[in-house]
Amino acid sequence: MSDPTVESAPSNFIRNIIDADIESAKHQQVVTRFPPEPNGYLHIGHAKSICLNFAIAQDYPDAVCHLRFDDTNPGKEKSEYIEAIKEDVRWLGFDWGDSLHHTSDYFEQLYAYAVQLVKQDQAYVDSLSAEDIRLYRGNLTEPGKDSPYRNRSVEENLELLEKMKTGEFAEGEHLLRAKIDMAAPNINMRDPAIYRIKNMSHPMTGDTWHIYPMYDFAHCVSDAIEGITHSLCTLEFEDHRPLYDWFLEQLQTPARPQQIEFSRLNLDYTIMSKRKLHELVEGGFVDGWSDPRLPTLSGMRRRGYTPAAIRDFCSRIGVTKKDNIIEMSVLENSLREDLNTTSSRALAVLDPIKLIIDNYPDDQEEMLTGVNHPKDPEMGHRDVPFSKVLYIERSDYMADAPKKFFRLSEGREVRLRFAYYVTCTHVVKDEQGEVLEVHCTYDPETRGGKSADGRKIKGTIHWVSAQHAVTAEVRMYDRLFTIPAPASEKERDYKEFINPESIQVLKGCQLEASMAGAEKRAYQFERQGYFCLDSVDSSADALVFNRIVSLRDSWAKKK
Ligand code: ATP
Ligand code: MG
Repeated sequence: MSDPTVESAPSNFIRNIIDADIESAKHQQVVTRFPPEPNGYLHIGHAKSICLNFAIAQDYPDAVCHLRFDDTNPGKEKSEYIEAIKEDVRWLGFDWGDSLHHTSDYFEQLYAYAVQLVKQDQAYVDSLSAEDIRLYRGNLTEPGKDSPYRNRSVEENLELLEKMKTGEFAEGEHLLRAKIDMAAPNINMRDPAIYRIKNMSHPMTGDTWHIYPMYDFAHCVSDAIEGITHSLCTLEFEDHRPLYDWFLEQLQTPARPQQIEFSRLNLDYTIMSKRKLHELVEGGFVDGWSDPRLPTLSGMRRRGYTPAAIRDFCSRIGVTKKDNIIEMSVLENSLREDLNTTSSRALAVLDPIKLIIDNYPDDQEEMLTGVNHPKDPEMGHRDVPFSKVLYIERSDYMADAPKKFFRLSEGREVRLRFAYYVTCTHVVKDEQGEVLEVHCTYDPETRGGKSADGRKIKGTIHWVSAQHAVTAEVRMYDRLFTIPAPASEKERDYKEFINPESIQVLKGCQLEASMAGAEKRAYQFERQGYFCLDSVDSSADALVFNRIVSLRDSWAKKK
């Protein structure tokens, strides 16, 4: 049911449980689900859950994974998010087939189950204020107290619930609660809410409902309705599992899904809570949900991350019950590994300065051959034009350079990638002493970057022919935050730690001629990193490239 190119995932404790369930014939068919709430865009944390659930569906015979929109909170949910979530799941390489569901598809059934609980005297309508409900709940050291409304008759409860449903009350006036135990040590079992009043229309069900089910009730019942066998969720739901089981036990649902918790993905130097992502987007701190600095899947896609790299990352971090924070470099290494094998090379000068070859004929030009991948001959060759005036990287020239500077300095010889050996003769400076031009002579016997006499050259630098170059804007990205755990900052607002250098815009970059026809894929700009066209701002006559990732981890050095 999923893309056959998606590699199978390594085993983990959840797969061990599934193996045992198949072995013992508890289940013939495994059914998982990915249940996003459509209240924002997906982020890399969701990718962990998507890869886990969909890869199980892909690896077990006849298994399926449902995509279920958990749309029980109409105030915060939008169809824009539903569409974006579908696009992201598909982009990651997964397919829900015809198993697309919404919790709102089950509103009638959920309501019938709630009525059943009332009839079994296991649910009641409470009319305490929100404030009192909180006070009556007690806390970790003190038991809660019964609400004075707890002993309403079944008839009265049914009547009130019906009126809640049809919109006869204001929000907050009443609440349907499970009747469990106000003294339970697990606070989730102290008569949790089942339905709250929301006089709000819903994108799928319109104005039919004035009450909407709470997550803890809706989730387990929806899982049961869909015949989910293994309901995988993050660790913070561990304390909710007794409630998950309680509802299904009281309702005697035909299917009994099993909730299994795993630790959520946390990454350093970023944030993943949807509430905070909303703040960054709405406060204009970033350029929308798909800002290339965000850990959202749409942002990562725009930045140039590949689905294969994200799947590889998810498989490397594994699935356990241990809470931890993964270093961004782990994600970036998966990315580099994928890009290194798939991206063709190009020469691009980001901070240009002119290199003039004084002994090269004025109006001569020639085509040299660039290899597209040093280790993969299948990726072929391309033409790279060469002429008298080139651009090189400003940092590739240094006056009075130390011995180990294997680039240009007066009297030193370097190899121009794919081209010739050149020896620096002198520079031309402006009145302030800034270098304007670097001058050199070339050795015509070294065409293709090889010398006949076998003399050794340590340094190779990249260049582009000035008259053939294409100008582009290049956006260099860095960590969005300056500290590893901005979300756990207590004293100060996490937004104070936004990295002012998280985006640096370079204009007037000079790229080799072939980049005029750059496609929508990643390129390695030699010695610089991996880059791709920006899907939003780039156009044929104004190219904009994003740096996906540098060639090496510069953060490891800084630390
Ligand atoms: P957030 O806490 O970021 O707002 P959420 O958990 O409220 O996210 P949902 O839309 O409810 O977002 O999540 C859908 C699924 O993705 C859930 O099963 C949830 O457990 C899982 N998920 C969300 N964040 C992570 C994460 N960081 N790591 C692993 N799984 C996650
Ligand atoms: Mg949630």
